[in-house]
Amino acid sequence: MKYHIATFGCQGNERDSEMIAGILEKKGYKATENINDADVILFNTCCVREKAENKVFSRIGKLKELKEKNPNLIIGICGCMVQQEKMIERVRHRTPYVDLIFGTHNIHELTKLLDNIREQKKAQYHVLNDSENIVEGLPSKRQFSYKALVNITYGCNNFCTYCIVPYVRGREKSRKPEYILEEVRELANDGVVEVMLLGQNVNSYGKDLSEKVSFAQLLKEVNKIPGLARIRYMTSHPKDFSDELIQSILESEKVCRHFHLPVQAGSSRILKLMNRIYTREQYLELVAKIRNAFPEASLTTDIIVGFPGETEEDFSQTLDLVQRVRYDSAFTFKYSPRTGTPAATMDNQVPEPVKKERLQRLMDVQNKISLDINKSLQGKVLPVLVEGSSKGEANMLTGRTETNKVVLFPGSPELTGKIVNVEITTPQTWILKGEIKENNM
Ligand code: SF4
Repeated sequence: MKYHIATFGCQGNERDSEMIAGILEKKGYKATENINDADVILFNTCCVREKAENKVFSRIGKLKELKEKNPNLIIGICGCMVQQEKMIERVRHRTPYVDLIFGTHNIHELTKLLDNIREQKKAQYHVLNDSENIVEGLPSKRQFSYKALVNITYGCNNFCTYCIVPYVRGREKSRKPEYILEEVRELANDGVVEVMLLGQNVNSYGKDLSEKVSFAQLLKEVNKIPGLARIRYMTSHPKDFSDELIQSILESEKVCRHFHLPVQAGSSRILKLMNRIYTREQYLELVAKIRNAFPEASLTTDIIVGFPGETEEDFSQTLDLVQRVRYDSAFTFKYSPRTGTPAATMDNQVPEPVKKERLQRLMDVQNKISLDINKSLQGKVLPVLVEGSSKGEANMLTGRTETNKVVLFPGSPELTGKIVNVEITTPQTWILKGEIKENNM
C-alpha cells in the first residue's frame, strides 16, 4: 500500500505531514511521489489565504476520475482548512468522493479512521475544535537528515484581527520542556545539526505550563545539547521579545543571529487595528536593542499592505520604518480578507489596485536595501549549511548562512548536511553566489 501527501502552508503543516507520514509508515504504507500510484492521498491544507483553499479543491477535483477507476482509493483532507466552520459541508457538497477528513487536533486518530473506512466502507469525517492535551510520542518520518522542525507550542492566543490561525489551531499550548529536549537530543544523536523550534509565537512559550519556564530558558537548555550546530526559531512576536531573551541568545552561541520579527505595518494606528499590541515606537526600540546586542545579525520581517483603513499616510510610515530598520529581506503581502476574522468585515477595505501599487512600491524600497546589504558581504567568507543541489542551477549547491541568507555555489552533493566555508563572490538581491573556500568545518 502506498501513500502520497501534498502539504500546503507553513512549517507547522510540514511538521504535521512528517508525523502523518510516520503514522502511515508504521501501518506498513510506503511513500510515493506519483499520485496516480497511491492507495491513500492526503491533502494537508492551509487556510491563511483563500487562494490556497481554491487550489486544494481544484487538485481534489482532478482526482475524481482516479477515484472512479479505483473505488478503494482513499482521498483525505486534513490540516487548517477543515478546522473552519462549515468546511465539512462544503467538502461534502463540492467533492463528495472524499473519504477522510481529520483536523489538526486529532492526527493521532489517523490509523483508527483508516481502519474504519476499510471495515465500515464508510467515509470518516472527524474534526475537533481544540484539544486539552498535546499527544506526545507520535511516530515521525523526517524530511531531512541534517535539519529538523521541532514544535514547542501549538495554537495561538493573540487574535491578530486579520488572522484565522487562532480559530483553526486553538489556544496556545506549550509542550513540556522535557519532551522538547528529549526530541532534540534524539535528533542530534541521529546527525541533525540544525533545529528550528516552531510555534505561532515562540516568545510566549511556557506561560501556560504549571512549572513556569520561559522561551529564554528553553533556548539555553537546547543550546547545551551536544552535536547541534545551529538553533533557529519561528515565529517571534515582537510584543513578547524580552530582555531576558536577548540575554539568553547572547549566552547561547548555537542560536543563529537571525531575527525574524514580523512588523506587519509601520503605523501605530494600523497596528492597533491589527491588534498587534505594540506601537511603531516600541517596535523600533526593540530593533535598536537587538542591533545593539548583535551588530552582525540579520533582520527580516513580514509586512501586510492595504489593511482595511490604511491611508497613504499610514503606508508612508511603513515605507519609513522599512528604511529605518533596513531589513535584510521582507515577506510582503497584499491584505487578503479571511472570512471569520474581524478585519474581513471592517469598513474602508482598500481597493485592489491601491494594494497592488503599494506592494510594488514597498518591494522596490526593500529590494534596494536587500541588495545594498548583500553587496556589503562581497569577499566575506561565511559558514554555510549545505542543503543539497540547487533546483534551478545544474552542478550548484544551495545552503544557508547563519543569518539565513541563501547561498549558491559549485560543489558535490555529498556535502549536503555539512557546514562549509563559502567566499561570497556575487551578491544579488535574494541570493548570494560564492565559492567554497575550504572544507574544514
Ligand atoms: S500571532 Fe497573530 S498572526 Fe501570528 S498566528 Fe497568532 S493571530 Fe495569527
